[in-house]
Amino acid sequence: MSSRGYAVTGRSGVSRAATRVTMVLAAGALMVGCVPSTSSPQQAVDQSATPSSTSASPTTDPTKAVRAEADRLAASYDYGKAVRLLKGVAGSESQISTIEAAKAAAKRFPDNTTISHLFYHSLIVDTKRAFASPTAKGYDDYMATVGEFRAHLEDLYDRGYVLVSPERIGQLDETGTMVPSPIYLPPGKTPFVLSIDDVSYYEYMKVDGFAQRLVVNPRGEVVNDYVDAAGQKHQGRYDVVPIVDDFVTKHPDFSYRGDKGTIGLTGYNGVLGYRTSVREYGDTPTTRSEIAKATTVATAMRADGWRFASHSWGHINFTTDSVASLRADAQHGAPRSNPSWARPRNLSSPSARTSPG
Ligand SMILES: [Zn+2]
Repeated sequence: MSSRGYAVTGRSGVSRAATRVTMVLAAGALMVGCVPSTSSPQQAVDQSATPSSTSASPTTDPTKAVRAEADRLAASYDYGKAVRLLKGVAGSESQISTIEAAKAAAKRFPDNTTISHLFYHSLIVDTKRAFASPTAKGYDDYMATVGEFRAHLEDLYDRGYVLVSPERIGQLDETGTMVPSPIYLPPGKTPFVLSIDDVSYYEYMKVDGFAQRLVVNPRGEVVNDYVDAAGQKHQGRYDVVPIVDDFVTKHPDFSYRGDKGTIGLTGYNGVLGYRTSVREYGDTPTTRSEIAKATTVATAMRADGWRFASHSWGHINFTTDSVASLRADAQHGAPRSNPSWARPRNLSSPSARTSPG
């Protein structure tokens, strides 16, 4: 167990203590807790929230496509899979030997308990609306803007940080003891865990300049619906998930074997921008439709390297709330009352409270 701070200085001059990290490798669950960053208001709509671009058209040469995929796998440190893919592909010997050399140069990360955890909430798209809202203080204290987040990603990448899922860090052995799992990276690369709490697009945020929800677009990409101050609807990259997806597509070496981040879900306003809570919204055709839509998005996200954790159903306080209320909260989040979700193994503790006591 250990904790350490991590400060980010963006190229744009954004400087902040991004998060303080405590990771507890506990029997049966990996708990991550965090203290959110502070942010400075910007007084204009963030121009760096851009629509998603059109994907490149697929190549018609199958060998070329296989080689490109092998390069992408090797860039994301999945050397074995890359080599297996190239086996039997004529003329790929030199590509295989390049990948084998990269594999030989990779070193085991020495101490998984020192892996940093960086945490965000949903990003502010329209700073003008966010900082004019009754919740402006909270947004200023706990949220980052799209522009700040993009600067952080560039900075993390420049420093050699690589996304890794918590599940990659350790596993229980047969005695129930958490043991570290090996992570092999080239010299100069450092794994880190990214988590995003809530991503509920809560009802109170609806007109405050945030995205509305996550959706799967016709190209199969997970993007956001966003409504601007004039009521105009947009679809594109307006929050952490699609921005990270795009960044990893451009920089496969920012992700360890395709890992992305972990979403800490609550339930009381539904999930991912869909009002899925039967308890809150009733067992109606509308709720069931919302559950189906959210499930489609979550399935696409899981397939693309994202993971889900519990952030408690009602955003409760794990330090001061009674055991009875913790039990009740866990029941509200159980699959029976929130059927789109299997019970998660990880906990992203609300309100930065991680003390096992
Ligand atoms: Zn939270």
